[in-house]
Amino acid sequence: MVVVDGAMGEGGGQILRSALTLAAITGRPFRLYNIRARRSRPGLLRQHLAAVRAVRAITEAEVDGDVLGSSELVFRPQKVRGDRYEFDVGSAGSATLVLQTVLLPLLFAAEPSRVVCKGGTHNPAAPPFDFVVSVFLPVLRRMGASVTVTLQRYGFYPRGGGRLTAEIEPCSRWHSLSLTERGPVQAVLARAVVADLPPQIAHRELHVVRELLGWREQDLVTEVLPPGQGPGNVLLLSMESENVVEMTVGFGQRGVRAEEVAREACAAARRYLAANVPVGVHLADQLLLPLAFAKGRFRTLGLSGHTETNRLVIQQFLDCSIRFEVESADNVLVIVE
Ligand code: AMP
Repeated sequence: MVVVDGAMGEGGGQILRSALTLAAITGRPFRLYNIRARRSRPGLLRQHLAAVRAVRAITEAEVDGDVLGSSELVFRPQKVRGDRYEFDVGSAGSATLVLQTVLLPLLFAAEPSRVVCKGGTHNPAAPPFDFVVSVFLPVLRRMGASVTVTLQRYGFYPRGGGRLTAEIEPCSRWHSLSLTERGPVQAVLARAVVADLPPQIAHRELHVVRELLGWREQDLVTEVLPPGQGPGNVLLLSMESENVVEMTVGFGQRGVRAEEVAREACAAARRYLAANVPVGVHLADQLLLPLAFAKGRFRTLGLSGHTETNRLVIQQFLDCSIRFEVESADNVLVIVE
């Protein structure tokens, strides 16, 4: 039994999700204690419970401790089975994080799968749907995965109610990844999305993007969603280079001015563009898991707590070497062998 301390490193939900993913693929049972010990509301929240139940469903696992607020979990998986599944977070908790937790195991299944995830699709502190589709999946496809994900309905915090569907084919062969050069930026696009909120919010955000990043008018788009999917607002800044796409994000929040939301997304975009590396902060931690199986290397910005922590979790389940070669503050080569 692998024993994992949920308080190590970042001490958040990612430790749980990575342990679930790794257990499902390797068939190794685990005990996780101190679940999310470094978060303000520790223990299993709905979103984490949804991830536990999702991996339990795809592996017919035996589970102890899968209740709200639980700080300890014992998980004994069986073989992953591809099938049609529907997972409902039951709150605005992130549906994309639930999808990411089951995605890799289902690529290892013998059968194809169709997975519906309901909950938040555009949540702070989680990959927005668009990031999964435009940034994460294209790199996963380069490693051999065949996955398509579609959005049926937006779900914003705190209301939720979003819905996405993934079609996943078994992956028969993984290709090692080499993503060490970004290449020149070929296109940029700023999308300011508003749902059941005034379009002026989007206009104000795009004004800041124009001022701070100097992007052209034709690269700034306001999207007003059909009524009933909000309230919500997200600013998505995508940067497409020769070898990769990166997307930085700002989430509209009550009490935070639209300009402030935009400034944050712009600051992250600037940092990425200045560093001239292909992989951004969030993609880096999300690539470690698939890379632990596909192997390879990528160059990224300075490492986040999530990336460092994911390495620790992976190495508890797998015998693989993950090295970080720091060349400068925002230029780190990650090598997985
Ligand atoms: P945790 O905080 O442990 O629940 O993990 C959050 C996960 O969401 C990590 O994999 C982050 O990389 C990812 N994440 C958070 N914010 C973003 C963002 N703006 N874009 C993409 N991924 C994100």
